Amino acid sequence: MKLGCIADDFTGATDLAGLLRRSGASVKLHFGLPTKPSDTLTDIEIVALKCRTESVEKAVEDCSLAAHWLIAGGAAQVYWKYCSTFDSTDTGNIGPVAEAIMAITRQDQVLYCPAFPENGRSVFMGHLFVGNQLLNESSMKDHPLTPMADANLARILAPQVKAPVGIWSRIAQKNRSAFPQETHIIGDAVELLDLEFLAKNTPSSVLLTGGSALAMPLPGILGIASTEKSADPRVQDRAVILSGSCSHMTQQQVDLYRQKHPSYQIKPETIDSEEVDACISWMKSLPSTAVPLIYATASPDSVKASQAALGVAKAGEMIEDAMAGIASAAHQLGTRRFVVAGGETSGAVTQALGINEVIIGREICPGVPWVFSAASGDSVALALKSGNFGTPNFFSDALTILEKA
Ligand code: ADP
Repeated sequence: MKLGCIADDFTGATDLAGLLRRSGASVKLHFGLPTKPSDTLTDIEIVALKCRTESVEKAVEDCSLAAHWLIAGGAAQVYWKYCSTFDSTDTGNIGPVAEAIMAITRQDQVLYCPAFPENGRSVFMGHLFVGNQLLNESSMKDHPLTPMADANLARILAPQVKAPVGIWSRIAQKNRSAFPQETHIIGDAVELLDLEFLAKNTPSSVLLTGGSALAMPLPGILGIASTEKSADPRVQDRAVILSGSCSHMTQQQVDLYRQKHPSYQIKPETIDSEEVDACISWMKSLPSTAVPLIYATASPDSVKASQAALGVAKAGEMIEDAMAGIASAAHQLGTRRFVVAGGETSGAVTQALGINEVIIGREICPGVPWVFSAASGDSVALALKSGNFGTPNFFSDALTILEKA
């Protein structure tokens, strides 16, 4: 194994895995800290954690264990992956985890670049744009757990870290100015070529961190890209769509899918074990060919009202627990295809299904591949979608792509 990656949520990890798989390198994705030794035959191993909104102490502890595990498995380079919208708070984990990994890998600076040009995320003068909007003017301002109120990444990072933060601007890159001296450096990138420039020209003494796209050139640089690709497993059994994301794009995806397919809404204020049972009974009553949508997806006003009534963490937890219970029941019913919207939601569902390890299949859209649990004979197919990824028809597209496999 040559490249080891740590991702702060499950959809982010599948996003990274899908983009790295494009290189033809073999990729294995572990959900949670692996308990077995590393697979030395695999080119790239990714450890997906659910630590984006954990306490700093817990996130640093988990990511440090993952870094040690990857290095023990032969990783020549460790990559720290977080969201392309830099989801974090003043007491967030991106900076502290980077500092901890830097100490473990004995590097002395960190480069941060969440840009993902294919999905409209770009960084210019240290400011993050989503499409043509500054991050804090995009729908990320209303995120239920990590609302983003600033687009200046240096300003977001500064309170999280112990040493100074600088910017490696696109202009400085074009002028081939000296690599910045600060310990923490935000790298500009607005197109793929910029990411390739960053990946190639960042000194090896600097820890690379960012969204999934910055990692894309690494298999080529490390000499593990390949032209051979194996076929995806065939999984055709019952399917379900579970959506706990309240992101703008997910709202459109839910609205469109609901128009032509059976759907069931759950709400933080009313969800309890009886409501979960009612939802499961409803699922059982449907023909096995139906692909139901179960969703908590709601507008920003509705999310705010639920959070005011229950508290932010509690509202999220109640939905995640319910989705986990519904996913387990669906699995018992024979469901083997799960389309899940939302990073935290995907973490809850994957854990409930007891899936620890997956191989990576074909991409549905940039950043969302189908992944398959390695369990032979009874493979589960999962499409784990980050909130704002995909087009409005994503749910139907995902199922169509799998049927064609
Ligand atoms: P995304 O990928 O869009 O960020 P996540 O699943 O990571 O989605 O985060 C969404 C969070 O919002 C989850 O914790 C989820 O349980 C919570 N949530 C879902 N629906 C609601 C709702 N109606 N009100 C409040 N919180 C909600």
